[in-house]
Amino acid sequence: MAKVGIVWFDKDLRLHDNPSLLKAAANCDQLICVYCFDPSWLLPNQYGLKSFSANRLRFLNQSLLELDSNLQKIGQKLIICYESPIKILVDLINRYQVCALYRNRSFGYYENWLWNELQKRVTQVRFELSDVHTLFSQLQLDSVLNNFPKHFNEFRHQVEHLPVATPLASPSNLPPLVSVELENCFDTKTFSKQQNHQAGLTPFNGGEDQALVQLQAYFAASLPSDYKNVRDQLDGWNNSTKFSPWLSSGCLSVRQLYAALKAYEAEKGANESTYWIYFELLWREFFQWNAYTHRAKIFHFKGLKSHPPLTCFYPERFQKWCHGNTPYPLVNACMNQLNSLGFISNRGRQIVASCLVNELGLDWRFGAAYFEQQLIDYDVAVNWGNWQYLAGVGADPRGQRHFNLDKQAELFDKDGRFVKSWHGHTTVHALDSVDAADWPVEHK
Ligand SMILES: Cc1cc2nc3c(=O)[nH]c(=O)nc-3n(C[C@H](O)[C@H](O)[C@H](O)COP(=O)(O)OP(=O)(O)OC[C@H]3O[C@@H](n4cnc5c(N)ncnc54)[C@H](O)[C@@H]3O)c2cc1C
Repeated sequence: MAKVGIVWFDKDLRLHDNPSLLKAAANCDQLICVYCFDPSWLLPNQYGLKSFSANRLRFLNQSLLELDSNLQKIGQKLIICYESPIKILVDLINRYQVCALYRNRSFGYYENWLWNELQKRVTQVRFELSDVHTLFSQLQLDSVLNNFPKHFNEFRHQVEHLPVATPLASPSNLPPLVSVELENCFDTKTFSKQQNHQAGLTPFNGGEDQALVQLQAYFAASLPSDYKNVRDQLDGWNNSTKFSPWLSSGCLSVRQLYAALKAYEAEKGANESTYWIYFELLWREFFQWNAYTHRAKIFHFKGLKSHPPLTCFYPERFQKWCHGNTPYPLVNACMNQLNSLGFISNRGRQIVASCLVNELGLDWRFGAAYFEQQLIDYDVAVNWGNWQYLAGVGADPRGQRHFNLDKQAELFDKDGRFVKSWHGHTTVHALDSVDAADWPVEHK
């Protein structure tokens, strides 16, 4: 009997450096390549927000179309199932007598829960999990994970000299596909048409080919040698690497990025800036394993601490923050940029997060959930980890971070160009329109 395998794509929408795909190619006679889009991602969550804005959806759709087109070149195609992953995978396994399920590790609590739950529900299948979302594998970090460091620096010192595995080549061909006929499973084009996503203003396009174009372009110029001097700017394509949307969706492998960085250093010389790109990738690494270790705690109000922060909830303030209508022009400009592009700089993220926590006194989780909806580079571990860090409930020895907004404007937008180009002044409003007793506040 033919050995049928499933490759379950998730945060690894590429052919290069994809161990699951290679293992499946080596061990199966026939393959089903599947991506599950859970319809609940488009419904309001506990924060009244969705998981996907139009920008995020567009980027994902582009990535899936490109993955499908690349799979077709080597004899396969991508099936998209618009259904909860558990239901669809159990159905596929049973209907097509699947003998092995291949997946690259994801770091979210929900994603891990899915994997464990599936193992309980279908026992006749071999489950193959590979590590490739991070620079280091679980095996390499065995002793670090046994006693996971509380802070980034401790983690960095323990891991930064470990070897990073060479990225794997893309497969040149794959076992033939199984023709799947199942309710709510489509080819990528049908799925993409159903989503009806509007073209946004974002300069990012999803997909593996796009990711490799950006990788090539960034390292072809001398940009890496100047990275540390410009990475804090609020705007400008070349002021940071812009790899995050492709890293988060897995259109780009972090090991491929690391190999390109090392090749650049070998050819053009290493300096503090090239090291700093690695340093930032170690932050990414830290948050992945932090999420892996602390599981659901990365979503808890009190985070990794024993006491919750002192906050209240003001719906009006939250709405004003989301729509860039606060009394703070710099924050408004950043939020307008986020809402238009699905992306803001790291500095911009720190500024608006600090404002939500400190000036507006809001629950940090609403900010994190809004970022989840809007950011095309949304990564569960990095996003919630950074928010906890800023709110003082995460992996930070210093506690809550408060950015002085005037000082930030003076440092990073001295001539006011950023605020002007993102209309930060036009939408300035008082923080509250009612007082504590719900009476209208009169603003002179
Ligand atoms: C509140 C908040 C939420 C964030 N949410 C996300 C998110 O959902 N997804 C995401 O990818 N990044 C997130 N970041 C981290 C960071 O802002 C982005 O990774 C970065 O701005 C992306 O632009 P870049 O690729 O040009 O980064 P570069 O400055 O060029 O950095 C190179 C890479 O290093 C990693 N990196 C950089 N800064 C950080 C950081 N602070 N923490 C972890 N990794 C980092 C990213 O993978 C990035 O692509 C968040 C930061 C904050 C303060």
